[in-house]
Amino acid sequence: MQLVNIKNLTREELEDFVTNIGEPVYRAQQIWDWIYRKHVLSFADMNNLPQGLRERMAEKAFISWPRLLKRQKAKDTIKYLLQLQDGQGIETVLLRYKAWHSLCLSTQVGCAMGCKFCASTRKGKVRDLSGAEMLDQVLFVQRELSHQGDKPITRLVLMGIGEPLDNYDNVIRFVHTAHDPAGINIGFRRITLSTCGLVPGIMKLSQEGIPVNLAVSLHAPNNGLRDKIMPINKRYPLEELLPACQKYTARIGRRITFEYTLISGINDTIRHAEELTRLLADFPCHINIIPLNPIAECNYKPSSPATTANFVKFLQTWGMSVTQRREMGQSITAACGQLRLLRGGGKKRQ
Ligand code: SF4
Repeated sequence: MQLVNIKNLTREELEDFVTNIGEPVYRAQQIWDWIYRKHVLSFADMNNLPQGLRERMAEKAFISWPRLLKRQKAKDTIKYLLQLQDGQGIETVLLRYKAWHSLCLSTQVGCAMGCKFCASTRKGKVRDLSGAEMLDQVLFVQRELSHQGDKPITRLVLMGIGEPLDNYDNVIRFVHTAHDPAGINIGFRRITLSTCGLVPGIMKLSQEGIPVNLAVSLHAPNNGLRDKIMPINKRYPLEELLPACQKYTARIGRRITFEYTLISGINDTIRHAEELTRLLADFPCHINIIPLNPIAECNYKPSSPATTANFVKFLQTWGMSVTQRREMGQSITAACGQLRLLRGGGKKRQ
């Protein structure tokens, strides 16, 4: 009999699981509490459950937990390389701000999207992560923080390895469990889902009824350039992507963030800034300028500080809402997917 990974169950499914083995429904809430609030790693440690129930749970289910392969610190950032049950490695990054902690997590092992500047896609996609494997990233870091007496994670960013909308069902399942006020309790509005521009996924998400923030990786102000940097643009060009974003904004009532990574000599001139301003004029959005983290497999270089400042200033002058993401530090191989690649992570399966 295959054991059930308990974190792959929604709270309602856990209630069914518990009642199906002849236990009262309130036991599900106790188990939920042990897993998502007290971060226990085994049923044996759930000491308000009868011994017989703990044993029966362990016969039918298990609590997954990743193994820490590497932890790298730089400034206010900690990057974790975690090993999953099948040996695959994924990355999770804790961003420490004065007032809160934010976790950037992976949604797939590898990525099929092929963005030119990204280490995560170099060996293609190996597999999707289950909802449990996304929760494991949150709980692993949360447990570490709580053991240190530190403040909890209160924001989640699905912007690590993988394209979240290419693993739609598991991501939605994860978001619901991470949001559950009886467990991890992170508000929908504090969860940001990033996409390279999968238009059908954006449309589906807009119908989901969960007001998460949407961040769209744009990186170019026209189709010609975006085709070169992001192959997904050939499937869903700007004329399809932007209306989908507008529909998301209209339906969810939250403005979208467009991510724009500045690449020296490629997309960082004032002409590009002008084009970007025209493209997004009258669009209630925010632009996040990201410094490129160079990777060995691609010869793109980050823009100079002066070029970056000019680009940002131009957008501000034209009234765009714009911020500049802080550098995460090349010393921790901060670009997503680099740690995993250095470890030799993952053979391509599709
Ligand atoms: S940037 Fe995101 S979508 Fe693009 S290849 Fe990397 S992980 Fe995939």
